[in-house]
Amino acid sequence: MKSGCDHAVEYIYHYLDGEISWTREQRIRWHLRRCRDCVGAYDFEAGLKSAIARAARTDVPPELFTRLQTLLEQEIGNGS
Ligand SMILES: [Zn+2]
Repeated sequence: MKSGCDHAVEYIYHYLDGEISWTREQRIRWHLRRCRDCVGAYDFEAGLKSAIARAARTDVPPELFTRLQTLLEQEIGNGS
């Protein structure tokens, strides 16, 4: 893994939640532009997050929601 990826991946979660400072957001955007690995991670998280958001708005079986959460936890575990 290239240097800088650790921080980028770490901040992606906060970035998606809109919980980071402007400076860190720019740093992530800059990193995502040149790092395909992190773009993949970002796309995965963004897709998962929107899937969860959709699930929360609609009548989705609780099992599916649990499965999504498990997926997310596994991804976080693999990322370290
Ligand atoms: Zn990276």
